[in-house]
Order: sequence, then C-alpha cells, then structure tokens
Amino acid sequence: KTLPADPILKNNIRQVDKACFSFVTPKKTSNPKLLHTSPEMIENIGLTQTDSKSDEFLKIFTGNTVLKNTTPYAMCYGGHQFGNWAGQLGDGRAINLFEVKHNNKQWVLQLKGAGETPYSRSADGLAVLRSSIREYLCSEAMFHLGVPTTRALSLALSGDQVLRDIMYNGNPEYEKGAIVTRVSPSFLRFGSYQIFAAKQDNSTLKTLVDFTIKEHFPDLGTPSKKTYLKFFKTVSERTLDMIIHWQRVGFVHGVMNTDNMSILGLTIDYGPYGWLEGFDFGWTPNTTDRQHKRYRFGNQPNVGLWNLIQLANAIYPLIEDAPALEQILEDYKTNFDIKSLKMMRSKLGLQTENEQDKLLIQNLEDSLHLTETDMTIFFRNLSNFEKENPSDGLKIVNEAFYTETSKDIKEKWSTWFKSYSERLDQETLCNELRKEKMNLVNPKYVLRNYMSQLAIDAANEGNYQLIDDLFQLLKQPYHEQAKHQKWFAKRPEWARNKVGCSM
Ligand code: AMP
Ligand code: MG
Ligand code: MG
Repeated sequence: KTLPADPILKNNIRQVDKACFSFVTPKKTSNPKLLHTSPEMIENIGLTQTDSKSDEFLKIFTGNTVLKNTTPYAMCYGGHQFGNWAGQLGDGRAINLFEVKHNNKQWVLQLKGAGETPYSRSADGLAVLRSSIREYLCSEAMFHLGVPTTRALSLALSGDQVLRDIMYNGNPEYEKGAIVTRVSPSFLRFGSYQIFAAKQDNSTLKTLVDFTIKEHFPDLGTPSKKTYLKFFKTVSERTLDMIIHWQRVGFVHGVMNTDNMSILGLTIDYGPYGWLEGFDFGWTPNTTDRQHKRYRFGNQPNVGLWNLIQLANAIYPLIEDAPALEQILEDYKTNFDIKSLKMMRSKLGLQTENEQDKLLIQNLEDSLHLTETDMTIFFRNLSNFEKENPSDGLKIVNEAFYTETSKDIKEKWSTWFKSYSERLDQETLCNELRKEKMNLVNPKYVLRNYMSQLAIDAANEGNYQLIDDLFQLLKQPYHEQAKHQKWFAKRPEWARNKVGCSM
C-alpha cells in the first residue's frame, strides 16, 4: 500500500489530517443473520456457495470477525452537498474489510452499517433494513441492466435495533438494523481528492492520484501532468457514460453530491434513489430536494458536469493547465449531445442516423410529458410498433398512460406515431428484428419504488421471500418472464410518491 495510514487505531470521531483513511474495527452485533447473498458475487470473489453458508462467512460479513492479517479501514473524503462545500465527511458508516484478487479482477469488500468510524460525525454508523434492502436489490439490478455500478455480496440483519427519525410521522422509531456487504474495485470518490485540495495538502493529493492511476488506470502511464490530464479525461468520459445509462433506464440517483460520485464512474451510494414511473425530467425521489430539485432526472447530466468541475478544481494543483481541463469539460458537453442522441436512437430502434432524429426525439419527450406516462412500459411496448400501422401506435402503448388521454393528446400522439413510422421507413430492419434490438436496451423489469417497498414491508414482518423473488426477477431485466408478468405494470395508486429514504 502506498497510501499513508492514520496511526490512531480508534473509532473516535475526529478530523483526520494527511491521511486517506483510518483503521477501524467493525462493531460486534448481537444476533447476526444472513438474509440474502448474491451467488454471482460469491463466485466473483473466489468463494463457493457452500462457503457462503458457513458461520465464518456470516461473522466476517457482519463485522463480528476480522480476518487474520487484515486491517479494516474507513476512508477520509469531503464533498459538495447540494452545491455547498461540506468539509470532511468520510465513511461514516462504511468499513472496508479487505481486498480480494480473483480471475484478474480486484475487489474491495465493504460493510455498510457496521458501526461508528472517525467520520461518523453526529450519526451512529448504522443502517436500517429498509435502506439496506433498497441498496442490495438496486445495485445488483443495475448491474444486470448493464449500468456501471458497485455490487453487493450479502444482506444481513445485525440483530440490533436502530433508532431513526422517520420523516413521515416525525417520531423516532426503532427499526431493524442491517448490514450490506458492498463490493467494488474501489470506493474512491470525487470527494476523496477534494478533501486534500481543500486542506491545501498537495502532497497527499498527489499520493492519492498516483495511487489511483497505478491501481485503477494503469494504461494511462506514469505520473506526469499529461497522465493526470488523461486521468481526468477518462473519469469525465466514464461519468458521462454512467449518466447516459441512468437516463436510458430511468434511474434517478437522488443525491449526486461529489462525495457520492465514484472515481471509476460507477453508480455508488444508493440512498433516496428512485425509478421513473411517469417520464418526467423534473422528477426527483429525494424529498429533501423537492424545492430546488437539483438532482431531478433531467438535471443529472448537468450535475455530472458540475461535479467534474469540482474534481478539476481539486486536482488542478497537479496539472496547472486550466485550458486543457476546460477543454475536457467542453468535450463532456459535446459528447453528451452525441451520446444521448445515440442512446435515444437505440431506444427507438433506429440503426441509421438522420438529421431529423433530434426533432423526432424532442417531440417524443414532449409528448411523454403531456400526461403521466410510464417510461418502462412505454418504451418496452413501443417495440411492438409496426411501421405499416401508425394508427395502431396509441393502442400499443396505451397501457403506459396513468390517466385517460384527451382527444387533444391523442391527436398529438397520432402525429408523433406518423412521423415515427415515416422515419422507420428509411430503415432496412424489419419490425421483428427492430423489436429484438429495442428489447435489449428497453428493460421490461426495473426495481419500481413500490416493489422494494413491498419487499421492505414483508421483511419488517419477518418474511424475506420477496427479496429473493425480486432479486431473481431483476437478474434478467430484458427477458420476458411469464411468471413475473405482474411486475410489468404501472405503479399502483397507493404507491404514488412513495420513495425510500437513505437514513
Ligand atoms: P450520504 O448522503 O448517504 O452519501 O451520506 C453523507 C455522509 O453522511 C457520508 O459521509 C456518510 O458516511 C454519512 N452518514 C450517513 N448516514 C450515516 C450514519 N447513519 N452514521 C454515520 N454516518 C452517516
Ligand atoms: Mg454517500
Ligand atoms: Mg448514503
């Protein structure tokens, strides 16, 4: 390890200087119980399914046993929260256990909710079952959707009760404590670099950037200003690619603070995230962001850019070339236009490029906002469209509308379907093949907010079956799964505006 270590071996809350992490010991839990494991991740780290049923596995991945010769640690980072510099944040409830190399891949295994660290500030370092189920299911679901993301290995109950201020009734309540084991090649964030820039500690900043490049971007070369620029360019491209995927599947992260932006361009920190039901650029799942809606669906690409600007500022001392950094940020904007258009073409099943496509897509997005229209159902059913029958268009997507469509709106849709049909006439692909291609980018099943809520409600009653059902379903989000057809449905009315919470 080239990273400097904090010599204090205590979990006490403090400011940490000149160090990227602090050694910590996970808290022992009173009655740990595994609720679910990801078979794929178990194999990815070189274990067998039998291993995962052992008492040792349970103890390690709930923080009750520390493996010999390993030194768990929490990382120091800062961040901009909702646009404001927040100072030192750090892993307040995440503890990195160790790294595993297997099949030429390197994984960090991290417990979320395993107790206080130097970075816990005023909070308890714990996680509740509710938010843990949401993170566990969603991170694995995102992986199977083809979205860059951190993964999850296991979901466990700690056996302890955790006190939480639940926002909707205002009274503190005890909830079941839980621990998710998250897995990623790295959990470094934009904020990991920002903290050293903020402290004007260029030496530790350089150590961390050099470490990051050596470990995670080895192809970029040895430390030099040129390499650092390439590093920033790569991070910028990966961030954009990740966000384009979010836009494709209708995922809204909800807290794109710079401490929640992975340096590897992975979706990280599943808190108050949500899935679009009605297609709405203005929607955010984050109830604390309902006024400014900074992190709304349509703003995610802009926020990605804003966050990259903060990262550029942070590593500037190593580069000292503002025009070169600015060029990379300019490229982000240009590439956003290009990649977003390409992504939308794929959602529409267009193989060729036409100057009018931008307008066709713009008109579609406008129409999707006319009345509440389910994004997943709309795009999935759109693959059944036959270019010879534009007048059947509305019938094909009808299931996606949450309310009765007025005559006016019907007419607007008819116009759009006509232009779509004309556009498809310029393509060589037959309806059948276009459908196949569209179904590879327009998922049939996503983790709708009410679905995790149902799994949470059942789990709180001690029934964990739905966690597994959803886990299995979301392994094949692009496949027709007859026995799961009930999950290809609009959000029931009771679940309107019901979104989870990260606490
Ligand atoms: P988030 O908005 O979830 O990304 O969290 C922002 C910061 O608060 C991070 O530094 C977290 O580690 C910290 N944090 C969130 N919840 C807790 C908790 N229950 N205990 C300690 N720290 C927490
Ligand atoms: Mg976070
Ligand atoms: Mg969080």
